Amino acid sequence: MRKTLYFRIILAYILFGLFGFIAVATVVSRLTTQYCIRDKARALYGEASRISDTYASDLYNATVSLEAVQAQMEALSAYMDTEIWILNPSGRMVVNSAQAPDPNQEKLVENFDSTVTAGNYYTVGTFFDSFDHDVLSVVAPITSDFKIRGYVVIHMPMENIRRDADSMLNISYMMLIILLVLSLIILLFFTEYVYRPLRRIIAGAEQYALGNMHYPIPVEREDELGYLAASLGYMADTIARAEDDQKKFIANVSHDFRSPLTSIRGFLEAMLDGTIPPDRHEHYLGVVLKETDRLAKLTNGLLTLNNLNTGGMLLQRTDFDINAVIRSVAASFEQTCRTRRISIRLVLTGRILYVNADLEKIQQVLYNLVDNALKFSREDSEITIESTEKGDTIFVSVRDSGIGIPKEDQKLIWDRFYKTDLSRGKDKKGTGLGLSIVREIIRAHEENINLVSTEGVGSTFTFTLRRSDLNDELNDMGDQE
Ligand code: ADP
Repeated sequence: MRKTLYFRIILAYILFGLFGFIAVATVVSRLTTQYCIRDKARALYGEASRISDTYASDLYNATVSLEAVQAQMEALSAYMDTEIWILNPSGRMVVNSAQAPDPNQEKLVENFDSTVTAGNYYTVGTFFDSFDHDVLSVVAPITSDFKIRGYVVIHMPMENIRRDADSMLNISYMMLIILLVLSLIILLFFTEYVYRPLRRIIAGAEQYALGNMHYPIPVEREDELGYLAASLGYMADTIARAEDDQKKFIANVSHDFRSPLTSIRGFLEAMLDGTIPPDRHEHYLGVVLKETDRLAKLTNGLLTLNNLNTGGMLLQRTDFDINAVIRSVAASFEQTCRTRRISIRLVLTGRILYVNADLEKIQQVLYNLVDNALKFSREDSEITIESTEKGDTIFVSVRDSGIGIPKEDQKLIWDRFYKTDLSRGKDKKGTGLGLSIVREIIRAHEENINLVSTEGVGSTFTFTLRRSDLNDELNDMGDQE
């Protein structure tokens, strides 16, 4: 059998009960008996000393008769449930509360030795074989003129003491039973509130391991176990989503690679079998070259995305002038702008505006955004790139008055390979990776990017950057001049 946590706890509980009983029956029982013996002995010794100071002394000083003392002792012993003796130092019985000694027949406690209590004031046993059962005996000397005249000995049957000890022990047993019942309640509580939910969580985890990622774990509680169940569910959802994404991703990659490959293959075959005449070869080789360009672009995009995703992006933050970056990116599109008669207007804050970010990556963000703006703009239109400053944040926006992005697509364009239906006709070379790369870079900077777009009117992409302290130094220097 698998040793479950529950099994171990039940086992521990049973052992706890068992050892509890064993401990009470042995150690506690012995301690209780010893305690009762000592307690009784102390009381009896007190009584014996009192008798030795009063009746016994009087007897030896002959101020009271033997009969009177005998009667007193009989009354006292009946009251105390004991047997009281007065012995001579030699062990001869002078008074015996159980049976008045016969004056004609001397009774001797054989081998009587007052040191039997050995430093203690009591002894347990048959008292020099005077009894056939165990008794507790205390011995108190009777002294007069600094001489020992005799001894007062009080005996109590051990049975009485054991009876007292047993009733005290019963209290210990009762306490133990109460303790066991209380711990059973805790055990039941544990079963209901910890063990059962834990089993359900384990069952859920097993289902997830089997690939059933949509299995709901029925633990709806607001404590650590509820949190654990919810976290596991969330983890399973994330894994399921990642699996879906991966499938979609592979389907997209395959699709995007297949179409240029099919067309390359088609043209090359047609050239080989003569369907395309040799004088048209140059034209079609040009088309094939364009298709290979597209494949190269696709591969590069995928590699860039992969590098950005793996192990968190390592940023090489520096302080640089974002206005200069905007100017240089705009300049790199000069040729395209000229052929399509599109102008780029720069609305920049200040001459120099320092930001703290990874220069190369921000350059790539700007490049992708301006590239898109140009692709989806009409001829003879204008694109505006703007930099603004608000507190510690710098806003950079790229605005076009192109085809715009439908509302339902605005959330999706950030996904890998996503292209809107509107754009398909306009941009056959697009890979659908540009904005995914933009989003990953902005995320790594812990900044934001947002989009405002109206179909047929245009789109504005705005992202934020952290303002650099260099600006303040620059301003200070400006003030001094
Ligand atoms: P692509 O390489 O296809 O441009 P992107 O990820 O950069 O890939 O963009 C995804 C899609 O978002 C584009 O195919 C297009 O449909 C839409 N899009 C992006 N920018 C714009 C824009 N400025 N105007 C209109 N549509 C845009």
